Amino acid sequence: MLFYYDIVTILIRVILKICVIKISKIEIINKTKTMNETIQKIWEKRPVIISGPCSAETEEQVVETAMRLAKTGKVDVLRAGIWKPRTKPGMFEGIGVKGLPWLAQAKKVTGLPIAVEVATAKHVEMALQFDVDILWIGARTTVNPFSVQEVCDALRGSDVPVLIKNPINPDLELWSGGIERLQKVGIKDIGMIHRGFSNYGNTEFRNAPMWHLPIEMKRRFPDMLIVCDPSHICGNRTGLQAVAQESVDLDFGGLMIESHIDPDKAWSDAKQQITPERLAEMLGEIKWRLENTDEKEFVTALAKLREQINHIDDELLALLGQRMKISNKIGEYKRENNITILQTNRWNEILAKAVARGEKLDLSQDFITKYLDAVHMESINHQNRVMNED
Ligand code: PEP
Ligand code: MN
Repeated sequence: MLFYYDIVTILIRVILKICVIKISKIEIINKTKTMNETIQKIWEKRPVIISGPCSAETEEQVVETAMRLAKTGKVDVLRAGIWKPRTKPGMFEGIGVKGLPWLAQAKKVTGLPIAVEVATAKHVEMALQFDVDILWIGARTTVNPFSVQEVCDALRGSDVPVLIKNPINPDLELWSGGIERLQKVGIKDIGMIHRGFSNYGNTEFRNAPMWHLPIEMKRRFPDMLIVCDPSHICGNRTGLQAVAQESVDLDFGGLMIESHIDPDKAWSDAKQQITPERLAEMLGEIKWRLENTDEKEFVTALAKLREQINHIDDELLALLGQRMKISNKIGEYKRENNITILQTNRWNEILAKAVARGEKLDLSQDFITKYLDAVHMESINHQNRVMNED
C-alpha cells in the first residue's frame, strides 16, 4: 500500500515539474517573441535613437542610466560597452562578462532592448547567451577582416541584428566588406554606424566626419539603416548638437549618443558623454526633416532649383572640357620648346589667387584647394599625354 502511495506521489511531482518547465518555457518564448517584435519595429522606425554609457561600470550605473533614458521617452535602445578596445594599455578595458547580467537587469526594469560591442567569437557567444538584442562591431574591429570574419562565423545561424561601425581609416571597401561578410553568414538585419575617421594632430573633431564617405555608403546600400554616432566624431560635448543635426539633414536613419549619469566621472570617454536629461533636450532641439513631401508648391520650387543646378553643372563640365583642350595646346608648346610640365611657382600663384577670390564667393579654402588640385592633376595628365605622343 505504502509502495503504491509513493509511486503516485512521485508521479504527481514529475507531472507538476513538467508543467512548471512547460509554463516557464512558454513564458520565455512569449517574452522572446515580444522582444523580437519590438526589435523589428525599432529596426524600421526612423529615427532610431540608441543611447547609454560608453562603458558599463557598475550595476547601479547601468540600471540608473537605463531608467533615466527610458523616462525621457525618446530612446529606443540602451547601449553599453562591456569589452572596450583601448588604444593604449592601462586604460579601463571594460568590465567584461560580469556586466551582461546588469544589462539584462536594465532591460527587465525598463523594457529597453540592449546593445553591446563584440569583437571576438567569445564576445558573440556570451552576448547571445545573455539575450543581448543588438550587437555592434566597433571601428577598430572593422579594420581587421580576420576579426570581422571571426565574429561573423560565430554569428552563423543567429538572427540577431548587427550594426557595423566604419573602420577608423577612411576605407570604404573595408566597411562594405564587413557588411558583405555579415550578409554571407545570413544576418538579415544589418545597419551601419558612422563614427568618423581618425586623423593626425589636433583638429576640431576627434574623428573627422568626412560626410562624403557615409553618403557613398548610402548610395551603395540604399535600403540599409545608417546611424550617426556624434559622440565619437566630436570627442566633446559642444559639437554634438551640430553633428547630430547635420546627419539628420543628410537623411541618416538614427543616432547613437553616449550618455552617463555623471559624465565627468565616466571611466571612459568622459569628455563626450552627456546626461540622459541633456540628451532629451538635444533631441528636442533637432529639426527633424522629411526626405520627401507631396506638397505641390515645395515640389515645384525644388524641381526648378534642381534644374538650375543641373544646367550649371553641365556648363561647368563643358568649360572644364575647354580648359583641358587649352592644356593640350600648352603641352604641345612645351614639347616643342622642351620645357617641364610642372612649374611650381606658377601653380602657387594660381592657388593663392583662387583662394582669395573663393573667399569673396563664399567658397571655402578647403574646397578651392581640392578643386584646383583635381583640375591641376587632370591638366598635368593631359599635358603628359601630349608631350609623350610620338
Ligand atoms: C564605443 O562605441 O564606445 C566605441 C568604442 O566606439 P568606436 O568603435 O567607434 O571607437
Ligand atoms: Mn566610447
